[in-house]
Amino acid sequence: MAHQPHARGRGEGQGPALTAPGETIAAIATPPGRGGIGVVRVSGGKCREVARAVVGEVPPPRHAHLAHFRCADGEVIDQGLAIFFPAPHSYTGEDVLELQGHGGPMVMRELLARCVELGARLAQPGEFTRRAFLNDRLDLAQAESVADLIDASSVEAARSAARSLAGVFSSRIHELVAQLVELRAHVEACIDFPEEEIDPEDRRAQDRRLERLLELLGKLLAEATQGAVLREGLTVVLVGRPNVGKSSVLNRLAGEEVAIVTPIAGTTRDYVRATVSLEGVPIHLIDTAGLRDAADEVERIGVERAWAAVRSAGAIMFIDVAEDEAHADLGLQGRLPEGVPMARVVNKIDLSGAPAGRSDSDEGTILHISARTGTGIAELRGWLLEVAGWQPHGEGLFMARERHLVALREARALLVSAASQQAFELKAEDLRLTQAALGRITGEVSADDLLGEIFGRFCIGK
Ligand code: GDP
Repeated sequence: MAHQPHARGRGEGQGPALTAPGETIAAIATPPGRGGIGVVRVSGGKCREVARAVVGEVPPPRHAHLAHFRCADGEVIDQGLAIFFPAPHSYTGEDVLELQGHGGPMVMRELLARCVELGARLAQPGEFTRRAFLNDRLDLAQAESVADLIDASSVEAARSAARSLAGVFSSRIHELVAQLVELRAHVEACIDFPEEEIDPEDRRAQDRRLERLLELLGKLLAEATQGAVLREGLTVVLVGRPNVGKSSVLNRLAGEEVAIVTPIAGTTRDYVRATVSLEGVPIHLIDTAGLRDAADEVERIGVERAWAAVRSAGAIMFIDVAEDEAHADLGLQGRLPEGVPMARVVNKIDLSGAPAGRSDSDEGTILHISARTGTGIAELRGWLLEVAGWQPHGEGLFMARERHLVALREARALLVSAASQQAFELKAEDLRLTQAALGRITGEVSADDLLGEIFGRFCIGK
């Protein structure tokens, strides 16, 4: 019979001091600097003790409690709100105390130092959310979406992260797993019978279930891919001779003066970055220095950095002012990365009078534009979104990461393999592995080093 891996990779051998029970952690949860409010967050067994010492009592659960925060000698550090969330009804699932004071760096530091004095230790990045995961308050995909929500650089990205946090992505995975478990039960039940005793209709029913699973998985993968596009975006390098209008194109896309545009060749000394949001997809634009043999040292460094950017690009826009300009004069032949989508962008059509728009041929994509007047920019944006892998349906997306895509693709490959197996033992084994791959997404089966990798990227206090 199918066994379901339920354990969340925690428990035995689950990490060093990080998760030691009873250890109390504390951190400033608000960003550094001055602000109206600053929050010190404490989680763990010593919260009540900390509350009694700092606030004078343990505040009633989940109530904003106005109090003086005091140091050891009774001196007032600040006046603010203390909120106590007893376990398990808190973010981490442990006792949590929030001290909301005035958002000044000295006040916050003093308050934090006071908590440490009382036995808490400084939290590591992501440690609050890691505890929330280990205490079953969130699954792994949800925990990741907390970081994605904080990092979101567009409204669309924030929305999709919020949807993942609400469990939309996870529940789709659970749905798949539930159906998979049923199928596994059927297949494994057949293992013990000789082939001739198995009803051909049973086999067909299994095949149909498998087909259906593949369909669902394919759909999920397509949606997750869109989510990943929203998160990662696309890095685009603008390449071209000096003065063809690279900075102007970048500015036009960005809608603001990010690169200095002047008519003197070679003024873009360094490459300039700008991130524009197209339909919520972050497009990171890199304007290269002239990419020509530089006369002085500063320019030479700019040129070198430009080449480094070109080598890691997701797409290249080769900008020129006339269609028939050869690339050879830039020495670009053989120096551009292979297999990276590239478009020829013919700029300044307001001068040449060439018709605007896009044409696709075996030679590649050509876009005629004018950075000055904005003609053809809509087509250029369209091409960028296409290369980024964006599909314009957008409904109900959820945030996904490369890690999730890898697991989903692996699950799909395993399902395809299961479908091709005749022997029930082999089919069953493929299905078991499929479930394991899906379980890695929500963290049902996850290795300790993966958790370290995921939570280590959080900010402190989260
Ligand atoms: P870069 O050296 O390739 O970055 O080129 P710039 O963006 O600095 O542009 C060089 C000059 O060409 C500037 O004077 C721009 O105003 C001008 N320019 C850029 N795009 C256009 C365009 O579409 N039409 C016209 N007429 N001039 C442009």
